[in-house]
Amino acid sequence: MDVSDILDALNAEQREAVAAPPGPLLVLAGAGSGKTRVLTHRVAWLVGVENISPHAILAVTFTNKAAQEMRGRIEQLLRYPAKGLWIGTFHGLSHRLLRAHWREVSLPQSFQILDSEDQYRLIKRVLKNLELDEAYWPPRRLQWFINAQKEEGRRPQQFGEIADRQLHQQVRVYKAYEEACQKSGLVDFAEILLRVIELLRKSEIMREHYQARFRHVLVDELQDTNAMQYEWLRLFAGAHNNLFGVGDDDQSIYGWRGARVENMLSFERDFAGARLVRMEQNYRSTETILSAANAVINHNEGRLGKNLWTEHKEGERISLYTAFNEFDEARFVIGRIREWVESGNRRDETAILYRSNAQSRVFEEVLLDANVPYRVYGGLRFFERAEIKDALAFLRIVASRHDDPSFERVVNVPTRGVGNRSLEAVRQLARADDVSLWGAAKKLVATRQLAARNTNAIASFLTLIDRLAEDTHGFELGELIEHVLQHSGLLDHYRKEKGEQAESRVENLEELVSAARYFNYEDADEMDPLSAFLAHAALEAGEGQANEWEDCVQLMSLHSAKGLEFPIVFLTGLEEGLFPHQRSLEETGRLEEERRLCYVGMTRAMQRLYLTHAEVRRLHGSEHYTSPSRFLGEVPPELIDEVRPQPQLRRPWRMAGSVPVGSPDAVGMKLGQRVRHQKFGEGVVMNYEGQGAHARVQVNFQATGSKWLVLAYANLQQI
Ligand code: ATP
Ligand code: MG
Repeated sequence: MDVSDILDALNAEQREAVAAPPGPLLVLAGAGSGKTRVLTHRVAWLVGVENISPHAILAVTFTNKAAQEMRGRIEQLLRYPAKGLWIGTFHGLSHRLLRAHWREVSLPQSFQILDSEDQYRLIKRVLKNLELDEAYWPPRRLQWFINAQKEEGRRPQQFGEIADRQLHQQVRVYKAYEEACQKSGLVDFAEILLRVIELLRKSEIMREHYQARFRHVLVDELQDTNAMQYEWLRLFAGAHNNLFGVGDDDQSIYGWRGARVENMLSFERDFAGARLVRMEQNYRSTETILSAANAVINHNEGRLGKNLWTEHKEGERISLYTAFNEFDEARFVIGRIREWVESGNRRDETAILYRSNAQSRVFEEVLLDANVPYRVYGGLRFFERAEIKDALAFLRIVASRHDDPSFERVVNVPTRGVGNRSLEAVRQLARADDVSLWGAAKKLVATRQLAARNTNAIASFLTLIDRLAEDTHGFELGELIEHVLQHSGLLDHYRKEKGEQAESRVENLEELVSAARYFNYEDADEMDPLSAFLAHAALEAGEGQANEWEDCVQLMSLHSAKGLEFPIVFLTGLEEGLFPHQRSLEETGRLEEERRLCYVGMTRAMQRLYLTHAEVRRLHGSEHYTSPSRFLGEVPPELIDEVRPQPQLRRPWRMAGSVPVGSPDAVGMKLGQRVRHQKFGEGVVMNYEGQGAHARVQVNFQATGSKWLVLAYANLQQI
């Protein structure tokens, strides 16, 4: 392959990194300066110019989406498929290793992944078994405790004698939880990494094997690795030290989850002779956007310090919109997106970013009303919806009978007469005999200890699962899932339910079948297709959704936007308490992390950046008057265009353009107007839709909460 093919489209610093001799190398560079580009070119360079086999390369990124994109770019550069190249997330790659070495890590071959909701349920059950009161021992806190221990690589045994009573109990729960996982053949997210690390630490043969195999290790977004991930990298890069890391301290946004930006700083110490490359030219954004982002991040003190510049033109000013409430905000955003699309552009060039996943709901509502296709990344979580989890539980128990959480989830779904009492008997026996729920249920049925009716109910479940497994033997993945959905009764169960939600559930289940049909498990050489698919569901929950091919508006949290870029970006909800987040105002150091998050958001934009905030926001059920985010004040005013100084939506239905001018708006009401209703009492007008006789308003009543009322009949009195 020709050297110039790879180096031509790079600047001098980028070339230095891409074509560097073997050895540790750290690229410390700002947003949009080409770090990810350098990483992909480096892989292409190693394979295409240095003749390193793709098999000998291990590349780690933060999301599966990023990994996919990276593989695509590498193959584009090489002009052939990079088979054998290991590229993925820490979890994805670790999982693959566990599948290959399940014996060495003492897991059953059919082990399954426990996602965070299942983990929470399991912890609740453990608490019950230990007879600990949830009121004193909140399961969420214990979940956090357990995960934090694992992230530090600490096992219950390592605590030794514990004097502190509280810690003593926490560790006791941790231990019981671990045992429950092991018994059911389950690993949670942190466990996946920890097991790999322990395997490599413990087994010299394994360590030497993988260090010899992966001669080059590359990692993107190094600033967001936690202690365990860093250790993971060190173990793989151990012997040869060929670690190629890229990162930006200004974009470290996972401190709250244990990420350590110090990993960037200790790189030079831990990897002797590390070469450092800095890149300061930004290729992504207009000068205006870049200056605004630079001005904001300059308010942070703990920085390594960089000065990003661009050759791009000034571009348009940044638009600031002050909305009345979150609906008004959403309508504004979607209005601009429509204009963009109407002038011949694509929807997926636009991104709506928010601090909190809960903010997506209103955008989704307004997008649905406006009939604009969209996709939510991280948040809606296709794989976390109840009906999908039911389906997955069936599949998991078909794959692995001892999966207790799945047993619990579907033993009585659809209802087959397994009541709480029978289930409790199963649980007790499982505890007493130290076997799985499946094992206990079998024994209960065989010994007929329960009333005939209850025995039959449990037996019918056991037979169903065994039969599903038998009948689907040798089926192709899509067929298998379809068969299980049909014959488990799940599909009928949801079909019988009435209403829109049930309909969308059926659709989702059908979508699961097509997801399985399109599922590509090329990489999964060590796994059977079902296990690979279930792992994919657990690891990718929330990342991307169906209809990948459709042109959609992109919605995602700021955290999931890392590394991506879009021609138009809407950074929404810029309000104190929301962004910066309330928690960050209470904990030291967190405010700077929020500011970095803001910087990440702003630097996603290539051509146009919109900043929005709402004066009134209803979130998590209550309504607040807000004040603008301090970050807005940190953007130099000369870079900002206020779209509308202070909104006074006197006649919203006219403003929205939905009612022809001159039609009756005798009500003359505005958003935020206080009104009185004969029956519901006093409230505030929150939202509106429709026109003329169909005009409806949403009023938030003090006593009864929010209601939609037809304006013509509601007889609202302004107060
Ligand atoms: P982030 O910090 O957001 O992850 P990054 O440093 O990884 O950003 P990239 O995503 O690699 O930056 O690059 C940003 C954009 O600039 C991409 O569209 C990329 O193709 C483009 N780019 C990078 N380097 C060059 C170059 N030398 N010439 C032209 N375009 C470039
Ligand atoms: Mg990047």
